[in-house]
Amino acid sequence: MSGFPDTLLFATHNAGKVEEMRQLLSPYGVTVVSAKERGLAEPEETESTFVGNARIKAHAAAKATGLPALADDSGLCVDALGGMPGVWTADWAEGPDGRDFMRAMERTRAELGDTPAPWTAQFRCTLVMAWPDGRDEVYEGVVAGDLVWPVRGALGHGYDPMFVPEGEDRTFAEMTADEKNAMSHRARALKALIEARFT
Ligand code: IMP
Repeated sequence: MSGFPDTLLFATHNAGKVEEMRQLLSPYGVTVVSAKERGLAEPEETESTFVGNARIKAHAAAKATGLPALADDSGLCVDALGGMPGVWTADWAEGPDGRDFMRAMERTRAELGDTPAPWTAQFRCTLVMAWPDGRDEVYEGVVAGDLVWPVRGALGHGYDPMFVPEGEDRTFAEMTADEKNAMSHRARALKALIEARFT
């Protein structure tokens, strides 16, 4: 099957991601509805891979609604840390007062210890498109770069202030949303999906 369905369920409760997906898919005449708008519960992400967790979210949403469903799972993989925090990227931000990404970046720096820079890393994004009959398709996007300390910039979210993409000298948090979206792991995964379904 090629192209997009008329209505796509985006299996996320993150309003920012929904808005981004609506913009990216607007040229294709797709109506994007989110799991939150449909009142779906967020399933537990119990797998140890991005694809495993994206599959859990996409299949749960497709089964619950009978609609084709898209889910993403993403994170930061640091080479000197054996790919950590990886699927635990958001968990490193958790603390008694909720999520704090400054705490997550400080932990990343602490885990690097005496490791000399450059600290190479990748942001990775896996997108899974699941169909109500159980089929699915997997797309991946990666952006490579270096971690910096101290962190720089106030834009973006998550670990953006610590990450300088390859070929750039600014962190993601020093770039506009448009600049980041032109090269981000999420945009690259979506581009792979669009190319696969429309070419
Ligand atoms: P999730 O896939 O929404 O669970 O994202 C996992 C975590 O990875 C998020 O909590 C973010 O902290 C981090 N992350 C994913 N994409 C980005 C990004 O583009 N910039 C900064 N952090 C990101």
